[in-house]
Amino acid sequence: MLPGQRISSIVSQHAIKKAAFFDRDGIINVNHGYVHSIEKFEFMDGIVEVMLHVQSLGYDIVVVTNQSGIARGMYTEDDFMLLNKWMCEQLIEQGIVITQTYFCPHHPSVGDSIYTKDCECRKPKAGMLFQAAKDYDFKLERSIFIGDNRSDMESAIAAKIRSGYWLTSTKDRGKVFTILSQHSNLTTLYQINELRECLHLI
Ligand SMILES: [Mg+2]
Ligand SMILES: [Zn+2]
Repeated sequence: MLPGQRISSIVSQHAIKKAAFFDRDGIINVNHGYVHSIEKFEFMDGIVEVMLHVQSLGYDIVVVTNQSGIARGMYTEDDFMLLNKWMCEQLIEQGIVITQTYFCPHHPSVGDSIYTKDCECRKPKAGMLFQAAKDYDFKLERSIFIGDNRSDMESAIAAKIRSGYWLTSTKDRGKVFTILSQHSNLTTLYQINELRECLHLI
């Protein structure tokens, strides 16, 4: 064995695994409301650059998405997974690897099926983040979250994620942002108006 190979294997053994968690609707694709078909799936401006950027910094890309459209009977888990597969294939063509997608098909009150329940995975809870950390040994305190809803940031705070990047513009959300920031001792929140701001913040 060459010395160089030994060193690289030692380094990789001790490399800290960290995730860049991405919400889907409103971050990866334009939020047209319960998007569940390829025809309605429109990639967000800047998302490819941001994903390539975090990937180059050593983050695994993980999608965490609430999909209550399943509980609402608007589409099935299979529909979701088919679209997810297509999405991953489109990103692979850009050189982006999605390590895993976690989705919550539930809703606490709407619908009348196995999906109507008060689960642990629906954001603002942190179930999907904890599951990912368990599955891939991610250090959550080294991981980041990019989302467009208050519930994304609350989920990040609940999981003690290092930084949350909140894509939002309205004044009202600015107020909520201040309140949330006061409650996040371990998570630093950044408000962004455009995805590409992540390129110099992360
Ligand atoms: Mg969203
Ligand atoms: Zn759930």
